[in-house]
Amino acid sequence: MTKEILIGNVKIGGNNHVVIQSMTNTKTEDHNSTLNQINKLYEVGCELVRVSVPNNDAAESLKIITENSPVPIIADIHFDYKLAIKSIQNGAKKVRINPGNIGSEDKVLEVVRVAQEYKVPIRVGANSGSIPKEFEHLPKVDALCEAALKEVRILEKYGFEDIVISVKSSDVKETIKAYEKISKLTNYPLHIGVTEAGTYEWSIVKSSVALGYLLYKHIGDTIRVSIAGDPIEEVRIAKKILISLGLRQGLEVIACPTCSRTEINVEKWAKKVEEKFSYINKNLKIAILGCVVNGIGEGKDADIGIAGVKNGFVLFYKGKIVDEYKEEEILNEIEKLIELEEEE
Ligand code: SF4
Repeated sequence: MTKEILIGNVKIGGNNHVVIQSMTNTKTEDHNSTLNQINKLYEVGCELVRVSVPNNDAAESLKIITENSPVPIIADIHFDYKLAIKSIQNGAKKVRINPGNIGSEDKVLEVVRVAQEYKVPIRVGANSGSIPKEFEHLPKVDALCEAALKEVRILEKYGFEDIVISVKSSDVKETIKAYEKISKLTNYPLHIGVTEAGTYEWSIVKSSVALGYLLYKHIGDTIRVSIAGDPIEEVRIAKKILISLGLRQGLEVIACPTCSRTEINVEKWAKKVEEKFSYINKNLKIAILGCVVNGIGEGKDADIGIAGVKNGFVLFYKGKIVDEYKEEEILNEIEKLIELEEEE
């Protein structure tokens, strides 16, 4: 089991649930836009948000951001140890920085002392795009792990063990192998993700394969799905990966692929149901099926199901038919059954 680490009021590692995190893509200096995005991320289920701190203005802006954020903020810093210190002093609850990039030992020690004083963990790690020269001769998976462990050792040397590790690759198999390897070498909590996973579709595929595999093997304490696009989608995908593995409670909408028997627009209704009931945070399966011929059979594992007929839907609950309803009635009828479920 990994070590438990506290990031503000969010625990990661140990027996705690796998925590969803994402990263803003606004200018951190613009605290209004950044807070706006953090609030949206929070609303869809994000539990930790990372913001990059590339300059002093961004570190200043963190003060307002951390005071008003509904979730703990992680500051992402490259090289400049002063920005790391200022970020912690301005309320960041975790920092992402590699001590090996900061320079002299004095500077590392200064960051460590401030992180200790404020009880702020540090995430160290490696990613396939920036392997340090000294490890370039190694096979990629070994290089990722060695690079991350080197950073860990620097912190440990100063008695700092409030550490989270990442070893991300943009390649699915490398990501899997690197995390499998590092998980055997350390018990610090692991931040898992595929780096530079690409645009929406590629990211979903790569993240689901890599993170799905790792999580199924009980590797990973916090996840980030990285998408070249809207971070809100990162959180939605992360949540679905966790729900589909039974690691998080929530709504699962099953929908048939449709065929010539289809009586309704399955895609449209599945999206409507997903949207209307996305607030559900207990396990519930709703099936949307194009017809009754095979519909009830196909959806009998679902708690609630609707199957298309000529003038509307047949509604079924726990595999048994309730009644037939018109299009304009069906969402309300589903809602009544959900309320019934919630009372149970
Ligand atoms: S549920 Fe009906 S419409 Fe959907 S794929 Fe099966 S047979 Fe076709």
